[in-house]
Amino acid sequence: MRLLLVEDNVPLADELTQSLQRQGYAVDWLADGRDAVYQGSSEPYDLIILDLGLPGLPGLEVLAQWRASGLATPVLILTARGSWAERIEGLKAGADDYLSKPFHPEELQLRIQSLLRRARGLANQPTLDAAGLQLDEGRQCVTRAGVDIQLTAAEFRLLRYFMLHPQQILSKSHLAEHLYDGETERDSNVLEVHVNHLRRKLGRSVIETRRGQGYRYAGSSE
Ligand code: CA
Repeated sequence: MRLLLVEDNVPLADELTQSLQRQGYAVDWLADGRDAVYQGSSEPYDLIILDLGLPGLPGLEVLAQWRASGLATPVLILTARGSWAERIEGLKAGADDYLSKPFHPEELQLRIQSLLRRARGLANQPTLDAAGLQLDEGRQCVTRAGVDIQLTAAEFRLLRYFMLHPQQILSKSHLAEHLYDGETERDSNVLEVHVNHLRRKLGRSVIETRRGQGYRYAGSSE
């Protein structure tokens, strides 16, 4: 999953970016509100984390412009501590959730997981369940019939994307756009390698190849 972080406090942005990357998210970071209006609408983000006090254009205005243009991406706003007025204005402008600064990194992690699942119409449970497999996002591990199967960081990122989009045909370019940040070179051969590793661990039929179209997560097997 690929996230946009809009935050002008550089030490906080650095810390958040590193923590989100450890959780397997591809993260693009911007500090300026005007840049955010443009990039948020032009790149296919799965979720946006938006600070409200921003140079260039206030976060509330950024959010209002996104929503006016029809952007439906989940947006979590970061508000000042105790500012109920900011939270209310943010929710009115179309935010899906908010966190007040300072916050615990784990709370942000759980809210992101919940928003991403809700956006896919999936229930927010301790594990992500899809077609016979359970993914524990905290441990970055997949379980089938109670047995843990260990994953590398890249396999976890890819499998999470598949499990959030079960039964959908996903092209390699679509997967690359959602698994890598804007700075990383996208190589579809690398994706193929990770798909093959996942099949070796989970069973061939878990991820089907649709010739000329891409991949489809079918789940179960073995
Ligand atoms: Ca700020």
